[in-house]
Amino acid sequence: MKTEDTNKWEYAPSLEGTKHIQLKEKYDLFIDGKWVKPNADRYFASINPANEEKLADIAWASESDVDLAVKAARRAYVDVWSKMKASDRAKYIFRIARLMQERAREFAVIETLDGGKPIRESRDIDVPLACNHFFYYAGWADKLQDAFPNRSVESLGVAGQIIPWNFPLLMAAWKIAPALAAGNTVVLKPAETTSLTALKLAEIIEESGLPPGVVNIVTGHGDTGAAIVNHPDIDKIAFTGSTAVGKLIQKATAGTRKKVSLELGGKSANIVLEDAPMDQAVEGIVNGIFFNQGHVCCAGSRLYVQESVADELVRKLKQRMQSLYVGNPLDKNTDIGAINSKEQLETIEKYVQIGIKEGAEMFQVECEVPTKGFYCRPTIFTNVAQSSVIAQEEIFGPVLTIQTFRTIDEVIQKANNSPYGLAAGVWTDKGSRIFNLTSKLRAGVVWANTYNKFDPASPFGGYKESGFGREGGLHGLEAYLK
Ligand code: ADP
Repeated sequence: MKTEDTNKWEYAPSLEGTKHIQLKEKYDLFIDGKWVKPNADRYFASINPANEEKLADIAWASESDVDLAVKAARRAYVDVWSKMKASDRAKYIFRIARLMQERAREFAVIETLDGGKPIRESRDIDVPLACNHFFYYAGWADKLQDAFPNRSVESLGVAGQIIPWNFPLLMAAWKIAPALAAGNTVVLKPAETTSLTALKLAEIIEESGLPPGVVNIVTGHGDTGAAIVNHPDIDKIAFTGSTAVGKLIQKATAGTRKKVSLELGGKSANIVLEDAPMDQAVEGIVNGIFFNQGHVCCAGSRLYVQESVADELVRKLKQRMQSLYVGNPLDKNTDIGAINSKEQLETIEKYVQIGIKEGAEMFQVECEVPTKGFYCRPTIFTNVAQSSVIAQEEIFGPVLTIQTFRTIDEVIQKANNSPYGLAAGVWTDKGSRIFNLTSKLRAGVVWANTYNKFDPASPFGGYKESGFGREGGLHGLEAYLK
């Protein structure tokens, strides 16, 4: 049935089953190939943001647990992994990819339960891309010399890796796969609200027969992350998360031998020129900001649309937003799931209030949302000033600011007027305009007539306060080599 006022189809619920997944009540730390209780015997709850129910208790690692993990990683590096034939290392990485693929459905459901993202996304994006990363880097493991001809390549040693909650399994894959392929061992910490798929990955790693200590998963909060960053026997820190924590990490590692790569926040510009295919652009904008509740560092959160087509585009966008489904992330009809945590929902709501106070015009879809859990309706702001807080600061939610422009020079200047530089999008019919803009936009990734597309072979990373270093492709491999 289609309702007349919103032009929205009413679908019967289509819930993904949860009976096939296996979750323990309590998860310990995965150190040296074994499940180890945290020294301080501290645990914290991981909850399902869609209904606020507890999923499991997770170990909270302290400095001494991190030390155990680093020692295990060092032993594994010196005694086993660095001595192993590269083609054998490749086989292990390949095996992890295959095992993940076999359990893809379980991973997708757990990712959705723990993080709040729609099952369609975890099933079609997060899990397949995570598997692809392992496959891709398994292929490079015994071809490092071919990857960097005329250079002598050497692994770094022990890599400390800290990841955020927006793509928990995928970020673990982005970090672990290239590190192992380059011959390093790993201590990885997932984000405190989304530890479960990293722990499931630990189960697969165990099953794969990977030598003990090559990958260690330590769960916990910021203090656990800081213990990794400050550990003297770590050779490389790879971090994805907020710019604030990224700055702390850079300070803490300054003057040490640690090699660092940081993938931080973003406020990416999505630019629609007057000759763009409007309907496709609307889909791209929706995908760019409402995808994964806007929990994407490279979300297209600032829209710049050429003045002559602005009215038409905003009208179409509002119409499209009316047909988005906000609700139970396990429902296959859902477009926008739950916000990852109560704190994050409060942050988003704070920015929405700031936008209203700043005098911007708000449009929010008036759909029903579940009463339990953390939900946010898709929101756009028009009449936004370039200097306004909502156009400058990262909101990390389904909130889009819209500004207009007249000339290409003007939009380049506006798009680049941001402390961030992670990604951008350009929508136009003309290839020459794409090349002109992509060469002038200060962003690590620029998508043309599409948005939020990822591939293991293509590097990803930022300019300015969005960080430095690249992940993915050969660049991602280089980050783990001397
Ligand atoms: P977000 O704002 O997206 O939650 P954070 O930067 O706070 O991003 O978190 C990203 C990751 O960094 C998480 O795994 C978190 O536990 C970890 N973390 C938080 N504070 C610190 C810190 N001081 N040092 C190292 N890691 C930290």
